[in-house]
Amino acid sequence: MTTLADGATSGQLNVPPGELAMGELQTLPLAAVDMLLAFGEAITRSTRPDDLLARVATTAMELLKLPWSVLLLRDPVTGEMRVVAGYGLDGASVPVIPAPPPDSPVLKTLMRGEPVIIEDYQGGAPLSPDWRELGARLGLRAVVGVPLITGTEFVGSLHLGGPDARHFAPADIAVAQRLARLAAQLLRHTEAHSAAHKRVGAFETMQALASSLVATMDIDTLLQILVERAVEVSGASGGSLLLWDAAENALVLRKSINGHGAAPPRLAAGEGLVGIAFTSGRPQLSNNYQHFAGATPAGSRNGVTNGLAVPLLRHGHPFGVLGVFSKLFQEFTPEDVNLLTLFASQAAVALDNQTLYATVLRQQRHLDTMVRAMHDALVVYDRDGCIVLLNPAAEDLLGLRPAIIGRSLEEVTADEDSYFSYRIEPLFDWPATFGHVIERGVTLAGMVRIHSDPERTFEAFYTPYVDENGAVVGVIAVARDVSATQELERVRAELDVARQHDDFLAIAAHELRTPITGIKGFTDLLGRRLVPGYTVTERDDAMLGSLSAQVNRLASLVSDLLDVGQLQASKIEFRWGRCSVRALLQSALDSVRPVAAERESDLLLAGADAVVCCDQARLEQVFVNLLTNALKYSTSGPITATVAGGPDHVRVEIADQGAGIAADDLPRVFERFYRSHDVYAHQRGLGLGLYISREIVTRHGGRIWVESRQGVGSTFYVEIPLTSAESHCGETD
Ligand code: ADP
Repeated sequence: MTTLADGATSGQLNVPPGELAMGELQTLPLAAVDMLLAFGEAITRSTRPDDLLARVATTAMELLKLPWSVLLLRDPVTGEMRVVAGYGLDGASVPVIPAPPPDSPVLKTLMRGEPVIIEDYQGGAPLSPDWRELGARLGLRAVVGVPLITGTEFVGSLHLGGPDARHFAPADIAVAQRLARLAAQLLRHTEAHSAAHKRVGAFETMQALASSLVATMDIDTLLQILVERAVEVSGASGGSLLLWDAAENALVLRKSINGHGAAPPRLAAGEGLVGIAFTSGRPQLSNNYQHFAGATPAGSRNGVTNGLAVPLLRHGHPFGVLGVFSKLFQEFTPEDVNLLTLFASQAAVALDNQTLYATVLRQQRHLDTMVRAMHDALVVYDRDGCIVLLNPAAEDLLGLRPAIIGRSLEEVTADEDSYFSYRIEPLFDWPATFGHVIERGVTLAGMVRIHSDPERTFEAFYTPYVDENGAVVGVIAVARDVSATQELERVRAELDVARQHDDFLAIAAHELRTPITGIKGFTDLLGRRLVPGYTVTERDDAMLGSLSAQVNRLASLVSDLLDVGQLQASKIEFRWGRCSVRALLQSALDSVRPVAAERESDLLLAGADAVVCCDQARLEQVFVNLLTNALKYSTSGPITATVAGGPDHVRVEIADQGAGIAADDLPRVFERFYRSHDVYAHQRGLGLGLYISREIVTRHGGRIWVESRQGVGSTFYVEIPLTSAESHCGETD
């Protein structure tokens, strides 16, 4: 406890405390009165002691028309004076202004409750060397120092100065003195007032922090609010929030208020009050910071007098620290510690929520960007078939208007023009498909026609929309424009047909020309020889044989061509009758035997006989075709024809050990005009034999297929059902 003393050691101060009396106001200049009134108004709005003191200092500066001022407070424990703030000076020079030594004549005067007035500083005022040096550096000429007194207690002083020597009127000094006294009282008043105020403020702040709104703030705003409120809640001069950065292995300063360098940008775990709060996970308090062993250099240098740091905990583990400090010798009470701890726990939750929200928001934006960037249309339905989400592609391509979102099916069908730009025609049973997807949780696809200009076709996939519990809550539809693909396929098919026709014409011309050339050669030759009296030779006989063979070939080609035309027009009349399959095969084998004999191949017939109802000539034509192919596409090895029966069908297998058919060609050999690419050059044919054979077999209600391996051989199968064939014979018989 310090009392103001005569000679700075003893005796009561003879200064009446209290407000400025009306009488005194009247002696002040009018401008000064205005300012004092403005000051009074301002202090009722703010309760932060730092703000009040700044207000006091600047008002005094304006009234006395002096540009600089410095505030000194007395350490209540040690009695040392400390410079706590400078006004009109840049922040950096304030810490270097030295406090006056205890034996300074200025301090002694002030402690007696008297003002110090120096009208010309350079003119030999009674000053300590430090202050003299400072005055010279700043260019100080005129100085007024007034004491801050509460009751009988000297708590500090306010010093005002300017660069010009001047005379101070008694009214100037009176104003300065009154303001200083007022400031001293306010300091004490805010201390007492703030305990109750703090509690209310803290409660309100914590309620605000719990609101969901906090989560939606950007992190910088949230940190700013947290520190501001922490300072407010604890009635501190300033505060800071540091978060642990694992990469830096340090607490990193994220936000500071009124720090002015008191809060270092980085702190190691265990360093300073803040670092200790972090490592211990418990609040740390020092009401005598200047003599606190763990004080950081930044804190000491910047005049911190009281410090309080509380850890921010997540699941009991510290992830940061909230710190507040005072430079005004204002003690933090145990209640402050409790309030700030409570506040910190709320702040930690707010920070967590914010992080969570920011993450969700980031993911959502990410997803949103992807959905928006999709070229395919995306439509999400709820279980009732009501659209809940659309992407821009769905608007553009399908012509769905955004107004459709959230509308029920009834609403949409009642007013289609408001919701659809084009008519949408599903080419499948939409309600059934939608129901299946919802009920069975399966993905289904369907084609959709959009009647835009030009018309477009979409392939749509309907996938169940499953929530986190696995329940199907809707349907996600993705539709892709396949118009171009379809068009491409159509053009390709047309080209294919055209190419096949071209190929066919070239092949047909070639195939027809070969026997015609032969026939023409032989007839010319014979014509020349057949003169009266000419004797037919053996060579002529052979030539006639060849001629006949070429004519047969020509006839067969022409008959194939005719068959194709008639088969296509379904004009071929079938002559039904019962016959032995073995007998038919035998006859077919006999007709190809001369060719087989040429290359010395065995033609084998196996299996039991069966009787079917058929067109005898046509079925034999099938067997001849297959046997001719077997001879044509194999160079050696036996060719076997086997009759195999079943209870309801008869099956003929014709196997060779020839070149076989490539896997690519296999599915297409029964197509009209189709020929394997590798046979083109060296085997004659129109690519019609198998096509005609299949048509004939199908007309018998049967089927024809092939199994083949390249280099091993091929087996063709012809299966004729007994029942359907019988019914034919029954009808015609
Ligand atoms: P063509 O024999 O006149 O070309 P086909 O319709 O009879 O016409 O046969 C179509 C194609 O099937 C043939 O070009 C050939 O590539 C293939 N093919 C038919 N039979 C056989 C077989 N036994 N071995 C290998 N390939 C065959």
